[in-house]
Amino acid sequence: MTGTPVRLDLSSPSRGPRGKPPKHFVDLTPEQRIDAVTELGEKPFRAKQLATHYFTHLTNDPALMTDLPKATRDKLVEGLFPQLLTAHRTQTADKGTTVKTLWHLFDGAKVESVLMRYANRTTLCVSSQAGCGLACSFCATGQLGLTRNLSTAEIVEQVRAAARSLADGEVPGGPTRLSNVVFMGMGEPLANYKSVMETVRRLVAPAPDGLGMSARNVTVSTVGMVPAMDRLAKEGIPVTLALSLHAPDDELRSELVPVNTRWSVDEALDSAHRYFEVTGRRVSIEYALIRDINDHAWRADLLGEKLNARGRGWVHCNPIPLNPTPGSKWTASDPRVEQEFVARLRAHGIPTTIRDTRGSEIDGACGQLAAEEDE
Ligand code: SAH
Repeated sequence: MTGTPVRLDLSSPSRGPRGKPPKHFVDLTPEQRIDAVTELGEKPFRAKQLATHYFTHLTNDPALMTDLPKATRDKLVEGLFPQLLTAHRTQTADKGTTVKTLWHLFDGAKVESVLMRYANRTTLCVSSQAGCGLACSFCATGQLGLTRNLSTAEIVEQVRAAARSLADGEVPGGPTRLSNVVFMGMGEPLANYKSVMETVRRLVAPAPDGLGMSARNVTVSTVGMVPAMDRLAKEGIPVTLALSLHAPDDELRSELVPVNTRWSVDEALDSAHRYFEVTGRRVSIEYALIRDINDHAWRADLLGEKLNARGRGWVHCNPIPLNPTPGSKWTASDPRVEQEFVARLRAHGIPTTIRDTRGSEIDGACGQLAAEEDE
């Protein structure tokens, strides 16, 4: 047996230490899963059977684990698969192809995830924190403050639930696979680095140890936490990195994205460029277009210049019309202004695509996830 022995609190499997979600099979490395299974008095090979059920069949329902004796599966599931997420409400839009789920966590914390089916791909937007501590002024989650980090299993469970629902044909268009995961739900993924990185490992690990997704189809979106971006570059897992810039100048960006006072526009762009150099993955620059705030032609030019100053072909831009949040004094840019902004970036040679605002009418679009209004 290898790895650190895992101590599981079997006396109360549904609760972990105060404030911490209970340990779940998915939190464990493959070696630790073997240890956990043997600590429960079962043969090591049961760990692989459980992993196959979870990651390949996308289930944690003992009734479906028919290759294990009944008593064994009941014991293993009770000990290793505490229920972490409870779907409290789902809302759909776009003829059922956008599905937002409000999850209640074990301690009453709430997060949302949004599933979006397109013609050629299906994307899940996951939350990595309950709330967020970064207080971006235009973002609904930012107004909540941070409740807590999610555990690896709490994030992976959002993904498994979505993949299961797609496999079951619950989303119109017939059964399909989940192709993309974006960390663009609630929270700042790089502020919960360890759990997010472990989640990424579970997503890309080949079956049966993980979901076998392609790293390029996993997008980690950040406000620009430079040391964590540099660390991510060195992980050897070339996920797509998205940098939420929203302004090319420090004066405005510090107002929109307060963490800019810690890591400036230039520092964030330098780090994003290093990410490209190390991983070969083209970085996305996110830019919510806010009417008369950051949508000026000169800002498009300044952005184009700053990106080109660092090289060519390393970046593409994703402007997104602002999704107004409740009570916000801001609104989306005029479509003509938006077109001009895009044209200017393209004139600088920057590949630019407007991001869609799927789910905005169910408050399921970028920056709208709040999950506080309950009933
Ligand atoms: N904390 C991470 C990921 C969460 S949000 C980050 O900041 O990147 C995902 C994206 O939605 C980010 O680019 C964020 O800036 C953007 N966003 C936030 N509020 C928005 C809003 N009201 N309209 C449009 N995009 C928004």
